[in-house]
Formats: sequence, structure tokens, C-alpha cells
Amino acid sequence: MTFSNSLLRQLAFINGKWQAANSGATYAINNPATGEHIADVPDMGATETQLAIEAAERALPAWRALAAKTRSQILKRWFDLIMANQEDLAQLMTAEQGKPLAESRGEVAYGASFIEWFAEEGKRAYGDVIPGPTPDRRLIALKQPIGVTVAITPWNFPIAMITRKVAPALAVGCTSVVKPAGVTPLCALALAELGKQAGLPDGVLNIITSAHASVVGEVLTQSPIVRKLSFTGSTPVGKKLMAACADTVKRVSLELGGNAPFIVLEDADLDAAVVGALASKYRNAGQTCVCANRFLVHEKIYDAFAEKLQAAVAKLVVGNGADEGTTIGPLINAAAVDKVERLVNESIAAGAHVAMGGARHALGGSFYQPTVLLNVSNDMPIAQQESFGPVAPLIRIRDADHAVALANDTSAGLAAYLYGRNLQQLWSVAERLEYGMVGINEGIISNEMAPFGGVKESGLGREGSKYGIDEYLETQYLCLGGM
Ligand code: ADP
Repeated sequence: MTFSNSLLRQLAFINGKWQAANSGATYAINNPATGEHIADVPDMGATETQLAIEAAERALPAWRALAAKTRSQILKRWFDLIMANQEDLAQLMTAEQGKPLAESRGEVAYGASFIEWFAEEGKRAYGDVIPGPTPDRRLIALKQPIGVTVAITPWNFPIAMITRKVAPALAVGCTSVVKPAGVTPLCALALAELGKQAGLPDGVLNIITSAHASVVGEVLTQSPIVRKLSFTGSTPVGKKLMAACADTVKRVSLELGGNAPFIVLEDADLDAAVVGALASKYRNAGQTCVCANRFLVHEKIYDAFAEKLQAAVAKLVVGNGADEGTTIGPLINAAAVDKVERLVNESIAAGAHVAMGGARHALGGSFYQPTVLLNVSNDMPIAQQESFGPVAPLIRIRDADHAVALANDTSAGLAAYLYGRNLQQLWSVAERLEYGMVGINEGIISNEMAPFGGVKESGLGREGSKYGIDEYLETQYLCLGGM
């Protein structure tokens, strides 16, 4: 093994200690760009998961009892340490996940921003004093931390998906057990190391690594100690976890799949739309749940937009994310490329025309060519399913109403994008879009200050922003009588 990094940890993190699996079992982490073996981490199961839950339970009373300001100071130190280690974290991320280094650096800062934000917001978990129905009573609504929380996170944002859940939880006095995606545990463990250095007490944050997600997931969802599950990942797994949480009536937040429409209206600034399209579609090689999945382009500007988009896509550089200049890395694994290949081929068979790409990349492995498909219709597989790959399918629309109808014709409702100039039309279209988030003349919309989340089958709850903290709070009502 030649890979080295100051933050590489190859043990799980339970109750403030670095721990192996009870069985001693490990599994390998490989670099998706090179296939290189970079680490081995513990393959934990039910017993270790239970220990992590119990550690979080033991840590809860003291952590919850701290002043919000004290928790905030520890979180702020964690934020500072993450930013001080931005480069090593980015190198680690690119090695295990594949995204270009510039994107990894961006994600480290983006991920850290949730810790900084919630370190502040945690101090503002205000309740209410409520006017009562009779003069002899005082009614008070208190905000209480929900208790032991669980985060199950995906591989596409190995740091940010964790901090977005853990930071609000910890800020308000909850403790947490995190199960990162099987293929990207290294960033999670690095975060734990920095959290320890920042002074997080033992058991407040625990990281379980495992190649057996369903075994760990079953313990996490069945445990009566766990009061809340926050999950980001695929819709089928989210539905399963939500059902599993019913037995113990846990609070559930879900960030699931999207099928983001990118609408370009007749009066849009096409150059701006192409900049937005590039960012929204090809970032992380198309592997984000808010990536534009289908382009709904007005017929009058369809050809002009397609031409400009192709010119921009032609400049993308596919390669190992660790190499200077790479703008598109590999997909996460072979299954991801198989899926993109299948969706593209089925859509070609249904009449789509390949303007660019349309096949695996000459680099082999899990690299796929940046692709633009023309003459796509909304019923083709590439527009119906989330491709999670670098493929832009362009669909012609007649007018704004047609765009809204096609955009809403899906069970997903996470992010949508809308380009145009007529403010009244933009507003009216945006309001009719059944999506939790709408980027209007903007292709990158996520930040720590804004509420991130979906409607319909894209999920439940919001992350980030003042709304994101409510997911970790219970409202307790106190009625003070005899006044
Ligand atoms: P993706 O397609 O992004 O890998 P998944 O939904 O499969 O999406 O994975 C998201 C997270 O959910 C990962 O941490 C994964 O290990 C976990 N996961 C997958 N299946 C289960 C399950 N049955 N129970 C608990 N966690 C699961």
C-alpha cells in the first residue's frame, strides 16, 4: 500500500476510541480512478453497532446539559481544524471517492460550513411563552434535543452529508452514531479524528464502518434508544429504513433521489444557462441528487442551446481527480457505469440522438464520456430515471406550461432549475414546480444557510438553515398552574 495521508485512520470510532471489528474482519477501500488499494477498515456488525448506540446514550446526559455556548465553542474548534486540514481531507476524498481535487477542496469547505453555521444556530434554539386561556396559568414551549440520533450517509459527498446531519444534532445537545457509505469511510474517520482533537467528549460522535449496511441498519433502526434517523441515499433504501423506523416511531429525515429538470425558457440568457448547466449537470461526474437529470429547452432556442452546451462540454477534462486540470473523475464503481450505459443505450434505441459521448471512456474502469443526447422525450429511460452520470438529455418544450407539466411528471421532487428573463413568468413557473428547491438563473443552490430538501418521494425534512435544526429538536410544553 503506497497511499499515505496524515488523516488516514483504519479503525472505526466508538466511544472516543479507535476500534477494530470484534471478529477482526476488515474490508478494502480502493481508489475508483486507479483501482489502487488505499486502506482497510473494520467490517463491523450488529454487536459493535449496539456498542456505539450505547456509547451515544451514555454520553447524552452530560452533552445535553452543557450550555449551548460551550457546545458551540467545541464545534467551532472542529470547524477550524477541518479548514486547517482542508488539503489533506481533499486528498483523502479524491482518493476514496474520485472527484476532482478542486471539487474535494470545495466540499471540505462546504461540509465545514454546516459545523460553523450550526455552532451558531445551536445557541438560538428558542422556545416560546404562550398566552394562556386563563389568567392562572403560564404556558411555555421548550425546545429539547431529541436524544440519540443516527446518520446513514452516501458516498457522493463523503464529508458534507455527515456534517449536515451531525452538526445540528450535536449543536442542540444530541449525540450521534454515523454509518458512512461502505466505499467512503475514510473521510468520516478523518472527521472523527478532528472532532476528537476539537474536544468532542467520548461517545458524542461514533462512526461505524461496515461492508454490511443492512446488518448495521437493522440494529440502528430497531433500537429503542435511537430517537431519530437521518438518511441520505437512494429512494428504495430510504423507504425501507422509514418502514423499519415505524416499530419504534422514530423521527425520520430523508434526502432521497431526484430527477431534476433544467428548464430553459425562450428568453433565457443562453450563455448563463450553459454555465449553470455545466455546474449543475457535470459536477461530481453527475453524481449528486440535485444534478440536472433532464433539460427542458424551448423549441425556439433548442438548437442554439445545444450547440453552446456541446462547445462547453467539449472542454471538460476526464481523468484521475488527483491530476491537475481534471474536471470529471470516474463514476464511483462498475455498477454506476453499467446503469448509465444501460439508460443511454435504451434511450438511443427509443430514438435519442448522440451529439457527444454516449459511451464509456477510453480510460476504461468506471470512466464515462461526458455526453449530450438530443431529440430526447420525457418518457425515455434517461429522463425517467436518475442517471447519476455525466449525461445531458435535451427535450424540446413548446412553452412554459409544457415545461411545468413535464417537470412535474415524476415521483421525485428535489431540485429544479429554471432559466429565463421575464420575472413574472419565472416566479409563476417556480411556484408551480413541485420541487423542494428551485434554482432560478442559478445552477448551484446548496449552502449552509438555505433549506435543502425535497417533496414527494424525494424526501422528508430539511437540512441546513434555521429549518434544519428543528429536525433535531422536540417541542416540550410546560404548563405552569396556580399562578
Ligand atoms: P447509493 O446508491 O448512493 O449507494 P444507497 O441508498 O445504497 O445509495 O446508500 C446510501 C447509504 O445507505 C450508504 O451508507 C449505504 O451503506 C446505506 N445502506 C444501503 N442499504 C442499507 C440498508 N438496507 N440498511 C441501512 N443502510 C443501508
